[in-house]
Amino acid sequence: MLDLLVQNAALPDGRTGMSVAVRGEKIVEVCAGLQSPAHQVLDAQGYLLSPPFVDAHFHMDATLSYGLPRVNQSGTLLEGIALWGELKPLLTQEALIERALAYCDWAVAKGLLAIRTHVDVCDPRLLAVEALLEVKRQVAPYIDLQLVAFPQNGVLRGAQGPQQHINNLKRALDMGVDVVGGIPHFERTMADGAISVRLLCELAAERGLRVDMHCDESDDPHSRHVETLAFETQRLGMHGRVTGSHLTSMHSMDNYYVSKLLPLMAEAQLQVVANPLINITLQGRHDTYPKRRGMTRVPELLAAGINVAFGHDCVMDPWYSLGSGDMLEVAHMGLHVGQMTSQAAMRQCFDAVTVNPARILGLGGYGLEAGCNADFVLLQARDPVEALRLRANRLQVFRKGTCIASAPACASTLRLPGRPASTGFMA
Ligand SMILES: [Zn+2]
Repeated sequence: MLDLLVQNAALPDGRTGMSVAVRGEKIVEVCAGLQSPAHQVLDAQGYLLSPPFVDAHFHMDATLSYGLPRVNQSGTLLEGIALWGELKPLLTQEALIERALAYCDWAVAKGLLAIRTHVDVCDPRLLAVEALLEVKRQVAPYIDLQLVAFPQNGVLRGAQGPQQHINNLKRALDMGVDVVGGIPHFERTMADGAISVRLLCELAAERGLRVDMHCDESDDPHSRHVETLAFETQRLGMHGRVTGSHLTSMHSMDNYYVSKLLPLMAEAQLQVVANPLINITLQGRHDTYPKRRGMTRVPELLAAGINVAFGHDCVMDPWYSLGSGDMLEVAHMGLHVGQMTSQAAMRQCFDAVTVNPARILGLGGYGLEAGCNADFVLLQARDPVEALRLRANRLQVFRKGTCIASAPACASTLRLPGRPASTGFMA
């Protein structure tokens, strides 16, 4: 006897009329038209059943703090960092936990069940680290939360000096933070940035941890930290365990140089996270016209065989005033900014918020196959492209075989002579 049988589902790979059988917390079979007794049967009505959304780049310690203590006037990354510096002394653990848990509620409702969040480790009290470790423990039944030790003020540049910053970072890792972060473009010089990349990669290699660095988040065409990150990754044999986040300078780099850089990144199996909502708003702020878009070269990276995910980065914080945990909104923006409008490219954008970030996080048991965790989202759309077009309603969200969020099907009632009584925006 099955615990759950989902019938008549479309899958992201294009198969339709599919059944997904669940026993306990696991998927036991995926095939067409399965008939088998089950405690619960869900008719998907031809809608898309997707593995859950995954966000490979977020800042949960800052989320939902918009307007505290004031709003970012210039809209730049640097004013956002300064604003965060003003907010940090005012943070309390309780408020931080409360805001993070509220965001996780939104995430679950949007079918976002795995998040990698950077956590600022510059405060020697490590208040945000303690708070997010507590959040990780509390949400573990429904969200896989992965923490990155993020030295927001730079390891060499920060006011407490390099030794203190490294010590804070090591303490955070000792406390259970999973991944080593960094911010080389915020160090004082290109040389200091390169030193920080080396130090942090060596620390991760020593401890057998993954690396995820904010890297070259600027419009500077000469920023080269991703080259250093690729070099250190292959030197230390950390292939496939290192991620470069943002890489916005690649947008502005010389094309010849990029033709040399892409194979180096592929050789190191570097993984990439672009953050389209944030990149399109923070980058190009010093331009008049034409204004650069600032997002890294997503189609070219994918064509080079490099794994690319789209991250949300910010929701209602010093850097970004909008957002709701909706990874389809993130992918929708990435699709537009990257001009990824072919059918194949739009499907790649859907992968960039599902399977690709799952690889970056190293999630076990992710996917819609026998043996995987019974985690999935039923979307009110018939395929990934329609899901992107509609930022589709999440009808049901399942975690380990249990429905943890649901929403009524949405349709607008029409009162028009001679026209249908309602529309669900499906052609
Ligand atoms: Zn970030």
